[in-house]
Amino acid sequence: MKQSSDVTRVLIHGASGRMGQALLRLLATREDLRAVAAVSRSKPAQRVVDGLPYFAVTELHGVPAFDVAIDFSLPDGLEAILGLCVERGVPLVSGTTGLSASGERALDAAATTVPVLLAANFSLGVTVLGDLVERAARLLQTWDCDIVESHHKHKLDAPSGTALALGARAEQGGAQPSYASLRAGDIVGEHTVQFAGPGERIELVHRATSRDVFARGALHAAAWLAGQAPGRYQLRDMLR
Ligand code: NAD
Repeated sequence: MKQSSDVTRVLIHGASGRMGQALLRLLATREDLRAVAAVSRSKPAQRVVDGLPYFAVTELHGVPAFDVAIDFSLPDGLEAILGLCVERGVPLVSGTTGLSASGERALDAAATTVPVLLAANFSLGVTVLGDLVERAARLLQTWDCDIVESHHKHKLDAPSGTALALGARAEQGGAQPSYASLRAGDIVGEHTVQFAGPGERIELVHRATSRDVFARGALHAAAWLAGQAPGRYQLRDMLR
């Protein structure tokens, strides 16, 4: 386990993407974290950018030593970064959504040897929204529960990982949610959980206006996870 006084060396997996770029920009403002390598799917146009070495996923085993990996890629990229983290005994924070059941099982297996934290949404607001949704579902057992999510048109998975995670909280409260997804423009992420009863309804809404909220949350999680024992963690474990 990493010593708390050290600067934590971070590997960014999915570095050329929308989230990867936000992570690298915000990482540069933190004194306790330092990016040591960036990985994306294809061969980088430039090997070193602003002093940071970039690697293609095929070159993953050549990356320098790191204390924690942060992955915001696509489901088919998870296996390789998870394998590297297990091989090197290093924690993994992942925000990748749309994982298959086998991807989830791979995370569980890895968590027997390294700390693993997967969150479909790293914003504080959505973490709190989950608590509100579960509470409302518990109190409104006979009402209909519907979750509507909107994202930019490049998003591949639907319903979003956040919608499914909110739905899981609604189910814990006894609701059976339905889902609707919109893909339009450059919407960063909006989720509405609606409870409808006879003659009235409640809408719980979260709107993200900047990817920085997710990136900040993921960096916070990485700094925290680097000091944890092996196991599978949720964002809520960090907030306790
Ligand atoms: P993007 O398409 O802009 O970027 C994807 C990145 O992953 C690129 O760098 C690409 O090169 C890399 N990549 C793709 N396939 C890969 C593979 N097989 N191996 C290695 N690298 C690979 O996507 P984005 O908008 O940055 O989102 C990335 C992921 O994060 C998506 O799953 C998205 O749903 C999720 N996301 C999660 C949160 C959260 O808070 N958890 C917030 C926003 C987005």
